[in-house]
Amino acid sequence: MTFKDLGIIHPILKAIEAEGYTTPTPIQEQAIPILLKRKDLLGCAQTGTGKTAAFAIPILQHMSLNRQAEKGKRKIHALVVTPTRELAIQIGESFNTYGKFTGLKSTVIFGGVKQGAQTTALNRGIDILVATPGRLLDLIDQGYISLNDIQYSVLDEADQMLDMGFIHDIKKIIAKLPTKRQSLFFSATMPQDIVKLSRQILGDPEKITIKPEQTTAEKVEQTLYYVSKKSKPKLLEHLLKEVSYESTLVFSRTKHGADKIVKGLDRAGIKAAAIHGNKSQNARQRALGDFKDGKLKVLVATDIAARGIDVSGLELVVNYDLPNVPETYVHRIGRTGRAAASGIALSFCNNEEKPYLKDIQKLIGQRIDVIDEHPFPDDGTEDTPSENKKQQRPPRRGPKPSSSAKSGEEKTFKKKRRSFPPRNR
Ligand code: AMP
Repeated sequence: MTFKDLGIIHPILKAIEAEGYTTPTPIQEQAIPILLKRKDLLGCAQTGTGKTAAFAIPILQHMSLNRQAEKGKRKIHALVVTPTRELAIQIGESFNTYGKFTGLKSTVIFGGVKQGAQTTALNRGIDILVATPGRLLDLIDQGYISLNDIQYSVLDEADQMLDMGFIHDIKKIIAKLPTKRQSLFFSATMPQDIVKLSRQILGDPEKITIKPEQTTAEKVEQTLYYVSKKSKPKLLEHLLKEVSYESTLVFSRTKHGADKIVKGLDRAGIKAAAIHGNKSQNARQRALGDFKDGKLKVLVATDIAARGIDVSGLELVVNYDLPNVPETYVHRIGRTGRAAASGIALSFCNNEEKPYLKDIQKLIGQRIDVIDEHPFPDDGTEDTPSENKKQQRPPRRGPKPSSSAKSGEEKTFKKKRRSFPPRNR
């Protein structure tokens, strides 16, 4: 199956080719024909599946074909609502990329920044609007935006919207949309409240489910380090120094923790930056930009801040803290191993986090390989759960090194083993 087989028009095909996409991902293969027939869609899919192109391409195609008949100032015909500014920016970039030969214009609006640049873009006239809920309602109230001409609406990451408390905003936005429109609704999970919300928004939708949470876990090589809380900084520093990765995303459960990790790495001579809700929008964008451009190799993030991060070729995810919600683990490791790529995820687990590990392993239906030969094993007061103790260890696997670093890594592990004898088990 090719994009041409899906009936995509030439200007969009050209843009997709320029991006280097050769074949549609499963969600694209399923969603594009449905959407080209102007049907409503309920999609259960997480980011990393190619979901954005799956909805952006057919919307661009319809609009590109219709626009030729329209005259005068552009009207907003497509609206995408998404929970975070990072996601909004990424979706906006996708519309620009896939639509660059269509002549359609899009803009992105989100809170936390001055509205001037956003209102200027709106006043000039746009076809497609990507927005976070709060700023969207704000600019509607101020009269900068009318939703009267919307023909395509997309609600993205619906479960995350609800988790973030956007339900009332979403309902207000939905109430302002014309009833005659094509509606798309995406969520990574489908709990009861999401199903209920989808019924209020969609007519009689086609349904597709792509990539249940568990399958990400199969694609990403995962390993686990038992390490006491106090040794986590040293272990992180050690791993980042020993094995050279071009891009590493470190997850911290708290904002304060993220700052502390960055400070520790800084002292160790490893350049890193943190992104979380207490950082200014500019600081977050700068850090993310540097990370995407490869100027910054290590980014430390909280779960909410990392939601929209899509770094092609992200090599390594480190769970510095294990999340207490197992689905979060899957979301985190799904940052690497996007689309066709495979990735590596390392997790640190201290005594208190062992119950979280149990839940995670239950969800992903597999045991995570334990690396017990590392320089900072926990001090023996923390007992390894018996299920992991029993596990037949495969031949020792460190984090996958870049080819040039491999022999160095092997040597270091041996050397360190002598100076840091493995704990007695
Ligand atoms: P998304 O799920 O929309 O966040 O997309 C995940 C990543 O997959 C993005 O980096 C896209 O650029 C990439 N991608 C989307 N569709 C394709 C495709 N058909 N072939 C290769 N990469 C793709």
